[in-house]
Amino acid sequence: MLLEAGIGAGLALFLFLAMLGYNIVPFVLILGISALFYFMVVQKGMLNLQSRNRYVGVKISFDDIGGQNTAKRELIEALNFIVSGDRLQSLGIRPLKGILLTGPPGTGKTLLAKAAAAYTDAVFLSAAGSEFVEMYAGVGAQRVRDLFKQAKELAKKEKKTRAVIFIDEIEVLGVKRGSHSSHLEYDQTLNQLLVEMDGLKTSSDVKVLVIAATNRVDMLDPALLRPGRFDRQVKVDLPDKEGRLQILKIHTRNKPLDQEVDLESIAQETFGFSGAHLESLANEAAIYALRDNETTIKSHHFKEAVDKVMLGEKLDRRPTTAELERIAIHEAGHAIISETVRPGSVVHLTVTPRGQALGYMRQKPEGDSYLYTKSYLLKQIKIAVAGALAEEMILGERSTGAAGDFQEAVKLARQIVVTGLSELGIVDAEKDDQAINTKIKEILYGQVEEVKRILTAQLPLLYQVAADLKMQEKISGERLRELIATYSRCA
Ligand code: ATP
Repeated sequence: MLLEAGIGAGLALFLFLAMLGYNIVPFVLILGISALFYFMVVQKGMLNLQSRNRYVGVKISFDDIGGQNTAKRELIEALNFIVSGDRLQSLGIRPLKGILLTGPPGTGKTLLAKAAAAYTDAVFLSAAGSEFVEMYAGVGAQRVRDLFKQAKELAKKEKKTRAVIFIDEIEVLGVKRGSHSSHLEYDQTLNQLLVEMDGLKTSSDVKVLVIAATNRVDMLDPALLRPGRFDRQVKVDLPDKEGRLQILKIHTRNKPLDQEVDLESIAQETFGFSGAHLESLANEAAIYALRDNETTIKSHHFKEAVDKVMLGEKLDRRPTTAELERIAIHEAGHAIISETVRPGSVVHLTVTPRGQALGYMRQKPEGDSYLYTKSYLLKQIKIAVAGALAEEMILGERSTGAAGDFQEAVKLARQIVVTGLSELGIVDAEKDDQAINTKIKEILYGQVEEVKRILTAQLPLLYQVAADLKMQEKISGERLRELIATYSRCA
């Protein structure tokens, strides 16, 4: 209203000045540019904020989150502080203002924040750190102010006394002050967040809890982690086997599974998968069942889905006949060595291109291992180099297809040396550079020689597996083991 009156008065003044013979063009230009700037920065910035902050009617409970038992326990313990606010006040305990969830992507941090809102009967408002960063100075800070204001208003509207603000990717706005090239804007935004958090009071009619998530806690400004701000940190890690099983059960609750489907063995095979991967796995398996016109989801749909989630969608690209032969030999080499050094380890091998891979051999993980012995690492090096060596033995030379395998082999050999598992004993990665490199080469050559010896002794089997693979496109672990048994009886 005031704005419209101002515009009207301004126009009248300009008309009056023009009638008196003044040149009003420069004034009009300056005013026009200012108006445009005001609209773009302030209005548009705010509008964006309004539409970006997502208010979610919360339905998630902690029971909908699989695994993460430690994270859930720690979070619930912290939330109990909030729920019993009056008691805390009577004891003079300062309120909990912020909880920081740290961990890899897709592990359920957003879910935990939503469950926290439901647990404390709060409204839930979410935003991502990147949404506060604009090229115009001051807009980020304005957005932070607005977010807190909006949370309080929403809670009142919903007749609640608590609000949870969830800020994902907090490292984008909470990066150490002074460390960013356009630091002024970042610093102002972060300062504003600190000011807002400092202003949160137990006595106010709406109590706001800020839950932030990051997978780069090392980048955060220490001021954020100071007591009274995000002084509770909850680690949200990749799920272990039991956790993966629970997550799979949650995401297959609404899906018709065939009786033969063994979720436990799928959980075993999916070491390293996050909750988001597992959700996608269950969904993809259902899509494969749909494509096959089946009414239930079968084991082989899950197997396909694991490949898809690990490597990407199957590609239509068809390799040439010569390439196909090379890929088949390469994968057969990996698979035979895998079965030799770790019997029963091959899930399947295929020459169907998928994602970045032209073909691949999938191994069963050796349980949930977080520590590796030297002998395990040496076996993995053998498996990695076997593809290229099989190509060399049968086709006379290697190809660029082994580049990734060699990188993996070097990484494993380096791991042996720098963790003190080689004959060099404990090494200083910086000072002993030369000795480390020499040892890495020695380890790699040693494994290459051994793989050549094994493959030479199994050459007829290598030819057979490669030929079958080329014909059938895919060989299961069971079929491979049958072939190996047949050839070893003939030997
Ligand atoms: P990011 O760091 O990438 O933002 P995040 O840790 O916040 O990820 P979420 O957004 O909570 O991860 O999870 C993504 C999806 O993955 C969820 O919607 C859910 O379907 C699934 N998911 C992840 N973790 C779990 C879990 N522990 N239990 C059940 N589902 C999960």
